[in-house]
Amino acid sequence: MPTLNQPSTVKTLHSIQRTRDRHWVGDGFPVRTLLAYNGLGQTISPFLLLDHAGPANFPPTTARRGVGEHPHRGFETVTIVYDGEVEHRDSAGGGGIIGPGDVQWMTAAAGLVHEEFHGPNFAKNGGLFEMVQLWVNLPAKDKMAEPRYQGITSGQIPVVELPEGQGSLRVIAGEFQHAQGPAQTFTSINMWDLRLTGGKQVNLELPEGHTTILVVLKGSVRVGGSEPIAEAEIGICDRAGTFLTLDGLQDTTALLLSGAPIDEPIVGHGPFAMNTTEEIYQAMADYQSGKMGALTPQ
Ligand code: MN
Repeated sequence: MPTLNQPSTVKTLHSIQRTRDRHWVGDGFPVRTLLAYNGLGQTISPFLLLDHAGPANFPPTTARRGVGEHPHRGFETVTIVYDGEVEHRDSAGGGGIIGPGDVQWMTAAAGLVHEEFHGPNFAKNGGLFEMVQLWVNLPAKDKMAEPRYQGITSGQIPVVELPEGQGSLRVIAGEFQHAQGPAQTFTSINMWDLRLTGGKQVNLELPEGHTTILVVLKGSVRVGGSEPIAEAEIGICDRAGTFLTLDGLQDTTALLLSGAPIDEPIVGHGPFAMNTTEEIYQAMADYQSGKMGALTPQ
């Protein structure tokens, strides 16, 4: 295993992304959009967008809170629940309810429509809600693949204890040391859910050339001695290098994303992300003519 006496292999922090803007997605998800290809473009490839919903408290209700039927084409949506419960249903037959620690990895690819609501038990009882939704781009050759749904429960996600009380790491996708994440991906991606102990330093090995992004959800962390990255802030690292040095200033919850960049044009509009404008017009026409399917009435 390489060690830190090879300074040229350390990944350095490229920028910190911050936003104070919150908006509602439907009536269930008060989100901050922390990453968006609209602006950052290829810098964050293969990732397109990341919304952080909450943390927010919801009172009990008998209403369905969330966002009704809408389409997607050309990418995947990955939902990670930290608190609360999310229910999903799509026109390709995928669906499920996920709770804290669980993940939905939905491949829209050629297109589907879906709905996303608070789960019924959470809605009935109310409480704290927090989740992340990440959009993962697909390469041109897979944009029109069959839709797919992976419901990944917390119990399926391996947990690696870091040495010397540094914290722990859940491998959702990709690998860490000998642990393999359960998510199937189209391109090379690591998604690690980190719990870092305040006052400890952690060194993580990552692939050379991968886009590398640290999403801080709680606490505060320095990347290679950078200024602190605080709650609801994102550190984007340089692709060069194979080591990331994280100093947790407090106990920290963070999501580490790494992925092989997809070096293709990105043309997006609303819920569609394709390679050309013509493909966007085609996506709109296909949605409007019902080719992305419909949800069966409940
Ligand atoms: Mn959606």
